[in-house]
Amino acid sequence: MVSAKNEMRLFSGIAASPGIAVGRLRVVDRQSLAVEVCPVERDSVSSEIERLRTAIDQTRSELEAIRARLAEDTGSDHLFFIDTHLLIMCDDRLFSESAAIIEGSLINAEGALRRTLLKYREFFGGIEDAYLRERISDIEAVVERILLTLNGQVHEPICAEQGQTIVVAHDLAAADILQMENEGIIGMVTEAGGRTTHAAILARASRLPAVAGIDDVADPAYDNAPAILDGTTGRLIVHPDQATLRRYQKLKQRYEYDELAWLKSAALPPVTLDGHRLELRGNVEAPEEGQLVLSHGGEGIGLYRTEMLFMNRQEMPEEEEQYRVYSALQQAVSPHPLTIRTLDAGGDKLLAGTRLSVEQNPAMGVRAIRLALAMPDEFKKQLRAILRVSANGATRIMFPMISGVEELRRVRVLLDEAQKELAAASIPFDRAIQVGIMIEIPSAVTIADLLAKEADFFSIGTNDLIQYSLAIDRSNEHLANMYQPLHPAVLRSLRQVVEAAHEAGIPACICGEMAGDPFFLPILLGLGFDELSMNASSIPKVKQMVRRCSRERAAEIACACFSFATAAQVEEFLKTQIAIHFPTGRE
Ligand code: PEP
Ligand code: MG
Repeated sequence: MVSAKNEMRLFSGIAASPGIAVGRLRVVDRQSLAVEVCPVERDSVSSEIERLRTAIDQTRSELEAIRARLAEDTGSDHLFFIDTHLLIMCDDRLFSESAAIIEGSLINAEGALRRTLLKYREFFGGIEDAYLRERISDIEAVVERILLTLNGQVHEPICAEQGQTIVVAHDLAAADILQMENEGIIGMVTEAGGRTTHAAILARASRLPAVAGIDDVADPAYDNAPAILDGTTGRLIVHPDQATLRRYQKLKQRYEYDELAWLKSAALPPVTLDGHRLELRGNVEAPEEGQLVLSHGGEGIGLYRTEMLFMNRQEMPEEEEQYRVYSALQQAVSPHPLTIRTLDAGGDKLLAGTRLSVEQNPAMGVRAIRLALAMPDEFKKQLRAILRVSANGATRIMFPMISGVEELRRVRVLLDEAQKELAAASIPFDRAIQVGIMIEIPSAVTIADLLAKEADFFSIGTNDLIQYSLAIDRSNEHLANMYQPLHPAVLRSLRQVVEAAHEAGIPACICGEMAGDPFFLPILLGLGFDELSMNASSIPKVKQMVRRCSRERAAEIACACFSFATAAQVEEFLKTQIAIHFPTGRE
């Protein structure tokens, strides 16, 4: 609840899409959609089940109509998101589980649907992998549409005042955001979600500031309240006082000015003062982000997380569908290279054809490459699709969570089989495709010299490497201050990997979040990394830092960092060095 009328209030959440918006809140109160749960007589059960069936069919038709309209208006770029919702609707479990509740508990369709949703929420809430956990928002959006249909209501588009409105909701479906485009909305805030929801991806692709994961913010009492949204730091300030407003108006101007300057200089080469070139590429989760990477000065994709294509569906995507999606991204970034990471799902829970089992410790369970190796036929579909794309332009393949040489060899056997199958069918592919591995498990660091003999490149996933090296859950906010990229153990790991790669004559890249923070650039450049891959919005800032550094100076700084025993000491030293040698590196 709002504490006192018009009192300034600061909320903190997850920075989902950068930028600053100053406007008024429009609270979209979809979560508290009135649902009347009432009993049904035994002899009305079949008609109640029929009512549910009709509502689901009608909702599906509505979504199909929206899809057709969007296809006409905006082309096919974002239709994938609507397709996800259509696929959920086609999954008969939503209907059959709710029908069983109507029959077993003798309650109406609305109540049964809510109960089914609660069950899914509980299940998804227990998933450790943030990406998979956030997929619940798609199911919620679909259930909400069905409930509205049952209530005889229409899913209204959000009304916005041109250039003024910051939408606040418990959650926003991708369909909402697509309908929002061109409606004057300048930012969005959600209680649910994080950086990897469809909504967040679309917000970034549309350059709309967004903050997610703020509890209890979709309060109708905030409707029309003046507010500031800072998607870069993950803050929302409601009823800002004059001083705060002035400060943010300045910050907004500065951000827009910087962004313009960054975008203007985006095309400049990522070359240091002493003429050394560092490859800067983008991390993406969907093909629509490819163009964004290029416009921010990225030269290709260093990490395409393919997971999204596999989620929320009954069947695994066929080779043909994967080929189409990967090709779309490749065409968007061509002639630059596209690095496709094979499926990195956090456990087998959400994938079609696998049981919905909950692992005791999913971060160390059947995930990523282990899951792929456990379903070789499905995995080979992905390998063939990637290989086929490689015939059309520079493509690299990358395997996640490799822990040892044996595992890599098993993967290579499957890749070899996939190549033979294509060759037998006279389907073209790049026979010299670069095969890289992610280094994100401490065992892989320790044997980096052995792995380097059997891979064409390394890409360090610092997000997981830090988590596993320090035993700190990367998504646990209570341990956030112990999640230390500058921990001496992490720095030694980075050095060991880059040295092993270069010793074997292969490039060393980083695609974890650490690569996208200009503050770490002197160390990464100084250690000798060849390529950094990051979110599109970070590329111009990192590029600016590269262009301000000399590699020689960076190497001295990196070397000196190893003389400290704690992350705090390294940070202090780095701050001082940046202030002296590369001023304006970090505020
Ligand atoms: C990483 O672990 O750093 C990485 C890039 O992979 P993900 O964040 O997808 O686990
Ligand atoms: Mg990882």
